[in-house]
Amino acid sequence: MSLTQGFCPKCGAPSDNGELCGKCKAKDLVWVEIPARLECTICPSCDSVKTSGMWSDSAITREDLSYTLVETSIKIHPDVKNVQKSISIRDTSSNRSLATVLVIGELYGIPVEHTAKIKFVWVHEQCDRCSRIMGSYYEGVIQVRATGRKPTAFEIRRAGEIAYQIEDQMQNAGDRLSFVSDVEETKDGVDITYSSQAIGTAIAHDIVGALGGSYTTHPKLIGEKNGIRLYRVTYSLRLPHFSRGDVIFREKGYFQILRQNKDTVFVKDLKTGLNRSFRENDDDPLIGNIRSPEAGTIIYRDAGLIGILDPQTNEVLEAPDRNWIEAYEGQNLLFLRHKDTIIPLGVETPEDES
Ligand SMILES: [Zn+2]
Ligand SMILES: [Zn+2]
Repeated sequence: MSLTQGFCPKCGAPSDNGELCGKCKAKDLVWVEIPARLECTICPSCDSVKTSGMWSDSAITREDLSYTLVETSIKIHPDVKNVQKSISIRDTSSNRSLATVLVIGELYGIPVEHTAKIKFVWVHEQCDRCSRIMGSYYEGVIQVRATGRKPTAFEIRRAGEIAYQIEDQMQNAGDRLSFVSDVEETKDGVDITYSSQAIGTAIAHDIVGALGGSYTTHPKLIGEKNGIRLYRVTYSLRLPHFSRGDVIFREKGYFQILRQNKDTVFVKDLKTGLNRSFRENDDDPLIGNIRSPEAGTIIYRDAGLIGILDPQTNEVLEAPDRNWIEAYEGQNLLFLRHKDTIIPLGVETPEDES
């Protein structure tokens, strides 16, 4: 006991300097505040959550979300020490949950405890993205066509894959309103409808990067919102005259198209296996594409020749041997045919057969 010992003016218990004792101080203090009701707006289609008027994708489950919201709604006075909270939540209907909260701690040396119930209300509202998707919202279309031909099945498939890959990337990066509205094959190519100018530009750019060609843009004013002019943009995307993998005939040689850049084609010389480039000339005869070759079993490889079984006649065919091709008897040689000439492309691997 110190010399300055006194007594609590309220209850008479001993206290330092004659002030309120811990028990009486704790009794008068509102040390915990718990709301009676909590509300959370959630999209029934995609589980996005609306916070302060903004929608965002929620990385956690609805259950974890409700625990987090209850947890953060409990306000505790900073003088409370050794705080422990226990929360249990059960659903009472499809849009109501009931949370039971128990908080214990120590206030001015006195143990304190408080229980409360929170009515948790789920408000279902369609989010900004889902309402646009439902309303078939779009800001433009990329028309993928090819110069002097129809895009190949491969090019059509790749264009669609690229569009959806970019959609994934942009959604993962939090760009909620960038999505692919539709991918539709038309009689002369494929149309990709998109929801924001950012995704439209990215898709057109990547298709040209992967398949060659170029595009022009054609904006059309469709109206005005909050003083901002709204446009729909059509991308006229032209794939090159030759597609990747095409084999062309030029200067008595056969060349596989690897890629194109403006008017330059980068090719693989199918005689030497080496890469080279030359100016594009749409008049070069197209022999075929390496994705649709013929295949013949190799019978012998000797003296600069490869003997194969012609899949069309079952007779022996001879093709010029190529140093860059590794091939053995019994394997299938992939080749294209140009009149009487056999153009070896390589051997069939297990992936080719699928
Ligand atoms: Zn007291
Ligand atoms: Zn949604």
